[in-house]
Order: sequence, then structure tokens, then C-alpha cells
Amino acid sequence: MIIVKTIKEVREKVKEWRDAGLSVGLVPTMGYLHEGHASLIKTSSSANDRTVVSVFVNPIQFGPGEDLESYPRDIEHDSEIAQTAGADLIFNPEPEEMYLDNFSTFVDMTGLTEELCGLSRPGHFRGVCTVVTKLFNIVKPDRAYFGKKDAQQLAVIRHMVQDLNVDIEVVGCPIVREEDGLAKSSRNTYLSHEERKAAVVLSKSINAGKELVKSGEKDAGIILAKMQEIIEAEPLAKIDYIKMVDADTIKQTKTIEAPAICAMAVYIGKTRLIDNFFTEDA
Ligand code: AMP
Repeated sequence: MIIVKTIKEVREKVKEWRDAGLSVGLVPTMGYLHEGHASLIKTSSSANDRTVVSVFVNPIQFGPGEDLESYPRDIEHDSEIAQTAGADLIFNPEPEEMYLDNFSTFVDMTGLTEELCGLSRPGHFRGVCTVVTKLFNIVKPDRAYFGKKDAQQLAVIRHMVQDLNVDIEVVGCPIVREEDGLAKSSRNTYLSHEERKAAVVLSKSINAGKELVKSGEKDAGIILAKMQEIIEAEPLAKIDYIKMVDADTIKQTKTIEAPAICAMAVYIGKTRLIDNFFTEDA
């Protein structure tokens, strides 16, 4: 596995692979890799001849006062995880490599991006769509892998690929969790010992919601009320949002008729964590 920092080097390597008739998978990440990322890399390397992992803390998807500076970084550890999971190349550019001084073109989606995390983090998905488009153009993969952990992001990327006729297959991968159920996240490192224990309320609430869906409950209000009650019983937790939305449009739904996503963002202390389940996976 090699680590490169320039767009030119990625293009040269990918061209070499293409000339040899090899298929290419891309796993975009912000680094500080864990088993969630590793599962995406493994899925890619089992379906493609070569896998590129991008490790880039994308400044334009962070809002003012968010954790851009403090976001954890450890490229050495990342390279061990990526290599073990089957990556062939890590693309780890500096922000200046991705955004020239005169950078002024953005990919901006309406609709889907104005719900859930888009409401609490204005501009976030504009940054995500822009960087993912750039990564797609740099790597030109056959397939790209995204976690269901970021369910809205997955829906947004699928929609962008459809809207802009991008010839790349988008593959959604299951959420990988800690033993107690907490969804793995680079941001879990922000939690104190006490907060880490409290953070289990997210997955407890998710499991309760899943059980209701499994038992045939279709009323989103009933499901959400039960889930909310579980989170509110934890003094360190503060709900940002908890909603049932249509899986394609991300618009709120009162009853589950089409595939839906039950999604939440919850502050544990100062750390904002997200979790969700797809009703079809319940
Ligand atoms: P991030 O580095 O947090 O931007 O995540 C990069 C990719 O890994 C995204 O597609 C995430 O959805 C995915 N991912 C992050 N955590 C998990 C997890 N616990 N399980 C599955 N995928 C994940």
C-alpha cells in the first residue's frame, strides 16, 4: 500500500491500474480510522481489484465553531488499519492541494440537504457534495463506499450521482458498533469516561425503535415517543433531533409506508453523536 499527497500521483497510479484493466473502489474518509471504516475498505477490496482510501479532514464541510481544528488525526494508525483491511492507496492531501486560493465552485443540493443534519449544520452538505465530487473526479472509481452510519449523507450522495449523471456505483454499508451498541465514530474519542457510558442511550433507543417496527408499528409518533423517552432518561444527553423520514427524500413521515430512516442527533455533553436505523433493516 502506498500513501500519496498529490492529485497527480493518484491519477498516475489509477491510470496504471486502468491500463492493466483493473477495477477501482473508493472509500472517502476523514481519517482516524476504526472498524467502521475498515468494513467499508474490506467490502471495497472484495469487489474491486484496487481500493483507494481518501483521508482528508475537509475544511469546507465544517461550520464556524465546529471541531475542524480538534478533529482527531493519526495517519500512521490510519495506514495500518487501511492496509490490513485491503487498501492499495491512501490519498492524504493537504487542504491547499484540494482547494487552491482561487477555489470558487461548489456542488449545492436543495431539498434533501435542508432536513435533519442540514438544519443543524447549514453548509455541511455543500462541503460534502463538493469534496466527494472532487474525489470522484480525481480517482474516477467504478464504485464508492459510504456507511449507513451517515444515512442522510448516503441519500444525498445517491441523489447527487443521479442528478449529475455520475457513472459510479454508490454502495451503502451497515453500521459497525461497539460491543455495548454505540456506533463507532472518530468523534467517540471526545467522550469522557462518564459520557462514554451515557452514550449507550443512542443505541438503546435505536434498538427500542427497531423492536417496535419489527412488531408491525407503523405510527412514527408512537415509535419516536418511546425512543425519545429513553434518551431523556439520561441526564447527560440532549436531543438535537429525532425524526422518521422517507429514505429517498429525507422528508418527515408520519406513518411508515415506504422505506424510511429513523435518524437522531444527540449531544452527550458537548459531543454531537448521530445514529439511525433503516426500517427495512429492522
Ligand atoms: P468519516 O471518516 O466519519 O467521514 O466516515 C467516512 C465513511 O465511513 C462514511 O461513509 C461513514 O458513513 C463511514 N462510517 C463511519 N463510521 C461508521 C460505522 N460505525 N459503521 C459504518 N460506516 C461508518
